[in-house]
Amino acid sequence: MKFWFITGSQKMYGEETLRQVEADSKEIVAGLKLPFPVEYKLTAKSNEEIVRVIREANYDDECAGIITFCHTFSPSKMWINGLNLLQKPWLHFHTQFLASIPNEAIDMDYMNLHQSAHGDREHGFIGARMRLPRAVVAGHWQDPAVQQKIADWQRAAIGALFSRDLKIVRFGDNMRQVAVTEGDKVGVQMALGWQVNTWAVGDLVKEMNAVTDAEIDALVREYEALYDFDQNDIEPIRYQAREEIAIEKILVREGAKAFSNTFEDLYGMKQLPGLATQHLMAKGYGFGAEGDWKTAGLVAVVKAMYPDGQTSFMEDYTYDYTHEMILGAHMLEVDPSIAADRPRIEVHPLGIGGKEPPARIVFEGRAGEAKVLSMIDAGGRLRLIVQDVTCEKPFQTMPNLPVARAMWKPQPSFLKGLECWIIAGGAHHTVLSFDISDEVIRDFARIMHMELVTINASTTCESLERDLMLGDIIYRA
Ligand code: MN
Repeated sequence: MKFWFITGSQKMYGEETLRQVEADSKEIVAGLKLPFPVEYKLTAKSNEEIVRVIREANYDDECAGIITFCHTFSPSKMWINGLNLLQKPWLHFHTQFLASIPNEAIDMDYMNLHQSAHGDREHGFIGARMRLPRAVVAGHWQDPAVQQKIADWQRAAIGALFSRDLKIVRFGDNMRQVAVTEGDKVGVQMALGWQVNTWAVGDLVKEMNAVTDAEIDALVREYEALYDFDQNDIEPIRYQAREEIAIEKILVREGAKAFSNTFEDLYGMKQLPGLATQHLMAKGYGFGAEGDWKTAGLVAVVKAMYPDGQTSFMEDYTYDYTHEMILGAHMLEVDPSIAADRPRIEVHPLGIGGKEPPARIVFEGRAGEAKVLSMIDAGGRLRLIVQDVTCEKPFQTMPNLPVARAMWKPQPSFLKGLECWIIAGGAHHTVLSFDISDEVIRDFARIMHMELVTINASTTCESLERDLMLGDIIYRA
């Protein structure tokens, strides 16, 4: 994946100036240290050139977005037809080649060459006039803080492109009677591109029966490198390996990057996939329990933005009012990428589901600033709710709770944070991420035209309720 850099100009300046604009643009591109490569594409001087390059950007699967910058003045009427066609994420980089004004060298020729303050305003106008979603980043291109903003947008754009291709495999339906994990699959595909389809649990069981001992041996060796476990109780672990291999074969065959399942439909399976699901998440797959395909997709999108990051499926479980903390866990399925220490595999019975005791990865979540994300179907639209949280390593041993667990305090404060989450309608299932930033979330929501509700240190219940009412007007609930 790469991003295209397009410099706006016009023919009026003459060959020599345009050559300088191109050379400066290439130097800017070479100076950007970003997570994904940027390629200088052209200095655009006419309507025809702009239409052509934007068509190419749309059709090139390797182009993840365009970055535009006007070194000189680029009259915006020549951009309208091209921008009307744009289907890729757009960042308007409001920069300037030189950081300061050279006292002796500056004259009218110099100003005509270095007039981003002028040209980028014309460029900004047409973006605003056409009401096109675009990120705007201002600042000198060598400034690391400015480059960080571009990097954030790149991650959002990568997430958006990933989203438009995302396939989610559902094994079984949503948990009976649960509302928040439901949603409009057709609407979600129209909004985000997600293809959400169901496969019979029987198909998975058939795939499980075809897994060989040699395949299981190889995966168990992989587990040994990553997790501690008791070799004397290996059969349940080998059974999870069988489940993992079969699930992954179906995901690979279908080109899917996320899946959901439910403990209510494990027909023909001996164990709820625990270790299997956890290790698949650690490898980058999205997951949602109890048929929660929306959270499964969101886990996958965040993991696509941060391939080696620390992001997991999570569930708010129990409160500690004394310490003002939320205990998060799940029946089994929490991603070991958020572990504070080396995880271990344990085998214990489950209280519900009526299956054999499943092997699961047990660990305590790490400390640090993080965010929880929940995507709900708000009726005719998707609402992305994001809350800042401060995670702490669980301070109790909880010897009778043999599952992975994390603890955190929500913003703006414990109780206000809980009230805000409930007011916004946030689910009990979330994506817990130590990676994603406010900028990435805002850029992603803008690209996908999603309602974004953020709950952070400056949120009050009053401001939140106003935001939700505004959302109802904007999205015509
Ligand atoms: Mn759950």
